[in-house]
Amino acid sequence: MEKLSRDTHIWAFDSQMQPVITVDPGTTLEIETWDCFTGQVQSESDTLEKLDINRVNSATGPIAVRGAEPGDSLSVTLIDIRPNEQGAGMVIPEWGQLVHKAKSPTTRIFKVKDGIIHMNERVSWPTRPMFGVIGVAPASGSIPTFAADRHGGNMDDNQNGIGATIHLPVFQPGGQLAIGDMHASMGDGEISGTGVEIGGTATIKVDLIKGKAGGWPITETADSWITHGTTASSIDEALQLACEEAAKLLVDEWGFTIEDAFIFLSVAGDLGIAQYCHPSPGSVIAKMRVPKTKATPSPFRL
Ligand code: CA
Ligand code: ZN
Repeated sequence: MEKLSRDTHIWAFDSQMQPVITVDPGTTLEIETWDCFTGQVQSESDTLEKLDINRVNSATGPIAVRGAEPGDSLSVTLIDIRPNEQGAGMVIPEWGQLVHKAKSPTTRIFKVKDGIIHMNERVSWPTRPMFGVIGVAPASGSIPTFAADRHGGNMDDNQNGIGATIHLPVFQPGGQLAIGDMHASMGDGEISGTGVEIGGTATIKVDLIKGKAGGWPITETADSWITHGTTASSIDEALQLACEEAAKLLVDEWGFTIEDAFIFLSVAGDLGIAQYCHPSPGSVIAKMRVPKTKATPSPFRL
C-alpha cells in the first residue's frame, strides 16, 4: 500500500501545486495527518494566543490521480479513520455563537481510547471520526486550507467520515488531493470553531468519474447524497447554494422536473449546516442530504 507521512503536507490549495505522489485510479493509500494545530496543543495551558497560527490546518498530500482532467470527479473513499489517543477543543477569542458568554479562552484536552472520547470523568461518548479538510487544486489562485470553496478545502462536514466517498470536482490535471484536520468528533456547525482536533492515520481509496462533476464536492454515504454550498459569510446564501446544487442533480442527472425536485427536497431532503462558527473569519458551509432511492441511484448520469 502507498503511504504518505503527515510531514508531506500543504497549507494552501494552490492551482499550480505539484504532487508528492501520483497513483492510478483504484489505488488504496495510508495517510497520516497532523491535528489542526500541528502538535502545538498538548495541555490545557496551550490556548490559542500562544500558538503560531501560521501552522494551523495542514493537509497531507497532494496526491495526483493519473488521468484526472478538469471536468472529472476525483472520488475519495474514507475506508478507515484512526484517531490518535489525545485531542483538543477550544474556546477561541472572538469566535462562535457563545463566545460572549465565555469568561476566558479555554483549551480542553480529550482522551480517546477504544472508540470512546473522554472529556472529563462525567462526560464521554463514542468517536465519530471525520476529516475537516478535504480538497483538490482550485481553478485559479491559492486558497488557504482555512477556507472552503468549490474545490473543497475546510468543508467541516461531519458526514465526511468512515465509509463516505467524496466526489471532488477536478480543476487541474491529476486533481491534486489533500486531506487533513481530523476530528474524533465534531457537531453540526462546529460552533466554537473546533472539533476534537486530533492527529491520526487513515486508509483511503482514490478513483475517477470521467466527464462529470458537481459544482462543489458531493459526499456519498450508504443512504445519501450530500451536496454543499459555501460562502465567506452568509448562511442564507450558503443554504440557498446547497439547495440549488441538490436540485441541479435531481434535474440534470435524475430526470426530475424542477418543481418535483423542489417538492422532493422539501419532503425527503434534509437541509443542514456543516460549518457555521460566527463570529469568525471562516467560511459558512451548508449541506443538503438527498436520500438515495431507485430514482437517484448514482451521482451522475454516465
Ligand atoms: Ca476545520
Ligand atoms: Zn478542525
